[in-house]
Amino acid sequence: MTFQAPKGTFDWIPPRSERVLAVRDALAAPLRRAGYGYVETPSFEDTELFKRGVGESTDVVSKEMYTFLDKGGRSITLRPEGTAPVVRAVLQHGLHNGQLPVKLWYSGSQYRYERAQKGRYRHFWQVGAEALGAEDPALDAELIVLAWQGYAALGLTGVRLLLNSLGDRQCRPVYRAALQEFLRGLDLDEPTRERIEINPLRVLDDKRSEVQEQLTGAPLVIDHLCGDCKAYHEEVRWLLTAAAVPYADDPRLVRGLDYYTRTTFEFVHDGLGSQSAVGGGGRYDGLSEVIGGPPLPSVGWALGVDRTILAMEAEGLLDDAADARLVDVYGVALGEEAKRRMFLLVTDLRQAGVGADMAYGSRGMKGAMKAADRSGARFALILGERDLAAEAVQVKDLTTAEQTEVPLTEVVTTLKGKLK
Ligand code: AMP
Repeated sequence: MTFQAPKGTFDWIPPRSERVLAVRDALAAPLRRAGYGYVETPSFEDTELFKRGVGESTDVVSKEMYTFLDKGGRSITLRPEGTAPVVRAVLQHGLHNGQLPVKLWYSGSQYRYERAQKGRYRHFWQVGAEALGAEDPALDAELIVLAWQGYAALGLTGVRLLLNSLGDRQCRPVYRAALQEFLRGLDLDEPTRERIEINPLRVLDDKRSEVQEQLTGAPLVIDHLCGDCKAYHEEVRWLLTAAAVPYADDPRLVRGLDYYTRTTFEFVHDGLGSQSAVGGGGRYDGLSEVIGGPPLPSVGWALGVDRTILAMEAEGLLDDAADARLVDVYGVALGEEAKRRMFLLVTDLRQAGVGADMAYGSRGMKGAMKAADRSGARFALILGERDLAAEAVQVKDLTTAEQTEVPLTEVVTTLKGKLK
C-alpha cells in the first residue's frame, strides 16, 4: 500500500520548494529592516482562542477548523490563522507592557478544512506581521508599504492593493444598522437572512450574482465614517501616495467581525483566477479585549506563500532550472582511494563556503559525469588514480568543457576564485 498526501494538501519538493524559502525570505526582509521581531507560536491552540479571536459566525470557525480532543480531553484546534495566536502570545508574555508598538512577524502553516481547488488548500503557508498597541495611521501605512516592498523584491508587478476603512466603535454600529435595514428589504434565502442579523457586513462579500445584483444600492461604510475615522483614513491614503504605493479604494472590501476596525486592505493578483487574494489584513483594535486582554489597538496582515508563488508563475518569474542548481562543484572520483580523498575535498569546499556534492554509489565514470551535468554544477572535479599519484585534480568547466589540472592543495582556493 502506498500513501498520498491528504486531500487538499500537497508537498513542496525540489526544485520548486526553493521558492518557498525564497518567498518567505523576501517577504520577511522588509519587516526585519523595519524592526519586526520573529515570533513562532505552536501550530495548535486551545479551540476557544479561535472561537473568540476569529469569531463563531465566520466560515473559518463554523466550518473549517480542524478540531479534536487531545488525550487529556482538551479541545485543540490546528491554527487556521496567525493573528489570534500572536495576540495570545503577546498577552501571555506581557510584551505589551514594554515598548509599544510590539512589532512581530511570523511564518508558518495554517489549516482550514476548505473546498480544495487551485490556490485554496487545506494546509497552506503564510508570512504574517502584526504591530500591536498603537493607533497611528503611519503604522497601517508602514505595514502596507512593507508588504508592497516584499512583492516588489520578488519581481511581481501584477499585485494590486485594494483599500477601505471599516469605521470604529462609534460609527460602525450606525452603519451596521443602516446596512441591516437595507438588507432586510431584499429577496434573500434563509441562511443569508440569518447572516443579516449576526454579521451583516459579510453579506456584502457574498459572491453569488443573484445577491450581488441586489446589493448595488447598499449603503457603504465609507459614507458613514465619523470625523476621526475619516481623518485617519485620509492620512493612511496620503502616506501611501507619498510612498508611491498605488492603491484602489474599494468601498465593498469588508471583514465581518466587530473587532476589525478602520483600515482594511487586500492584495490581489489577476493571474490567479477565482482565488485572487495573495494577501490581506487590517486593523483589529478590539481583538485583545475579546480574548481577555487590555485595549490594544493593532494592525497586521497575512500573505499567502503558495498564492504568491502561483502569482510568480503567472508572471513567468519562476526558473526551475536555476532553482535546481544547488551546488557549484561536483566531485567524480574513480577508485576507492580517490573517493576517500574526494570526500575530504568536498568537505573542505563546503567548509570554505563553496556548494559541493559528489557522486555516491558505484557508478562508472560515464554515470558519474552525467550526474555532474544533472546537478547543474558549474565545475566537475575529476580524481583518478593517476591524478592522485600526481597530487592533483582535473577541474572541468561544465559550461565550456575546458579542463585544467590543479594541485590538490590549491583546489579550494582556485575554485573559490573562479566562483566569485
Ligand atoms: P486570510 O487569513 O483569510 O485573510 O488570508 C490571508 C492570505 O492567506 C490570503 O490572501 C491568501 O493568500 C492566503 N490563504 C488564505 N486561505 C488560503 C487557502 N485555503 N489556501 C491557500 N492560501 C490561502
